[in-house]
Amino acid sequence: MKLLRAMREPLKYVQGKGALLRFKDEMGYMGSRWLFVCSKSGYKACHDQIEESFADSDDVRQWEIFGGVSSKGEIARMRELVEEHEIDTVVAAGGGSAIDTAKATAHYTGTHIVAIPTVAATDAPCTGLSVIYNDDGSFDKYLFYPTNPDAVMVDSQVIANAPVRFLIAGMGDALGTYFEGRSSLRTESPSLEGTGITRAGMALAKLCYETLRDYGSQAIVACENNVVTPALDAIVEANVYLSGVGADNVNCAAAHSFYNGLTALGGHSAPHGCCVAFGTLVQLVLEGAPQDEFDDVQDFCLEVGLPVTLEQLGISSDDQVHTIARNACVPGETIHNLAGDVTPDELYASIVAADSMGKKALGD
Ligand SMILES: [Zn+2]
Repeated sequence: MKLLRAMREPLKYVQGKGALLRFKDEMGYMGSRWLFVCSKSGYKACHDQIEESFADSDDVRQWEIFGGVSSKGEIARMRELVEEHEIDTVVAAGGGSAIDTAKATAHYTGTHIVAIPTVAATDAPCTGLSVIYNDDGSFDKYLFYPTNPDAVMVDSQVIANAPVRFLIAGMGDALGTYFEGRSSLRTESPSLEGTGITRAGMALAKLCYETLRDYGSQAIVACENNVVTPALDAIVEANVYLSGVGADNVNCAAAHSFYNGLTALGGHSAPHGCCVAFGTLVQLVLEGAPQDEFDDVQDFCLEVGLPVTLEQLGISSDDQVHTIARNACVPGETIHNLAGDVTPDELYASIVAADSMGKKALGD
């Protein structure tokens, strides 16, 4: 049966400098009993402003620092708190793991969910899924939800105060969105949510790339100085909303498979978004993209400090490249959303070529 096209996104998205001071105004319709699931840094970045937004309200506010990983044990602990305090809305404040924990907690307890990312590094806030880990830290599964979060709130000043490397990694993750979506649409592959790809989804993915090109460098300067400018706001929206909603409604392809293949090496430390950025260059080679387009993406990486060579990702041996290529092509990987049946051999060739063009660009 032909796939139905569908569009998924958070019901409400709020962004801007000082947004947290309006938390209660914007989210108050979701109830009066709140559980805040925070990373340590998320708590520091958000607690005072959110509390201020409640003024003299007598709403119940339960603040909880979670264990750092979106594990089954942590989710069970949060579920107990929801029941004990008769919570209406679970609020995540932190990075991807805090958000994934809170999303799962809200899903299992039938409560509302608000995601407040305190770094703009991942797609977790806007998407309708969580990555769940076992209590020993190993990967368990993707948990898919019937809807996306009720609301996402981003305070641009919080993002400006966070280390710039998170913003750069977020741009790397966002860089793949358009190119991966385009390949998935060419083959009429399903979206990340398993539905047909909409024109709306593709339009967001395209705008994501255009926004990165237009404002990436300026946003870095703003973040380095801990100030909010229109350029930083544009990149926050690209990293959090356009990339997250975009990816959810289009799909991943070779760039994310390159990352997954790389995780098979074990012990690597390059951030997800940096691997996806180089993976995007690899994908363009694999697809036979014209030189102009490859140069455009590579120039962007050079401009904002995303990797263009394997060495910059800490990969040094030919064996490692073969391992990545093999693992990136296992059945079920999103690389198969590309036209044709990509083989490890073809991917290996593209990785080597992309790396070599990177070395040339760096003048090595
Ligand atoms: Zn990603």
